[in-house]
Amino acid sequence: MTDSTDLDELLIAHAAGHLTEAAALVVATHLCLCPESRRRYRIYEALGGLVLDELGPEDVGADCRARLFAALEEEASDPDCECSDPGDNPLPLRPYLSARPAAAGWRHCGAFAELPLAVGREPRAKLRLLRLEPGASVPAHGHEGLELTLVLEGGLCDRDRILRTGDLGIADASIVHAPRAETDSACLCLMVANGA
Ligand code: ZN
Repeated sequence: MTDSTDLDELLIAHAAGHLTEAAALVVATHLCLCPESRRRYRIYEALGGLVLDELGPEDVGADCRARLFAALEEEASDPDCECSDPGDNPLPLRPYLSARPAAAGWRHCGAFAELPLAVGREPRAKLRLLRLEPGASVPAHGHEGLELTLVLEGGLCDRDRILRTGDLGIADASIVHAPRAETDSACLCLMVANGA
């Protein structure tokens, strides 16, 4: 599970276009994998449109209301996401992985390995895939800014929570942690540090 308050703030920032490219990629990939976040994100998008459109010319109220109601109606029946097929990488992530062979570029460090991913306009963004062997931990560390960790495969124990496929972990400067893969399977994560 994910801390809902932090996640809502993140979804609102994404809907408003305020995230960096790397953080937006992580959130967009999370949306592919999480129906509950897709439902909330659609509402934030509609509400954001309401605010923006209210700044426009006359007679936008009815249109705004119609779009908000449409979004709320969609809430009742979440459509399957078409950007994530079982066995394939979520659609937002594919352009970042297609530039290199699957096995190239991994840095191995004991029981975990990481694959740095290039972000076009953000050379300092620390976007990477992280693979942990069963039971392996990331060394204990703090954060200078926001760190987002999206579980793509397996389970990740992070403090008092277990994140599973599609769950998004959010850690800020107040948190020191050492996330650990569950003992029965390897864990693959998409991470960005100081990217939001
Ligand atoms: Zn961390």
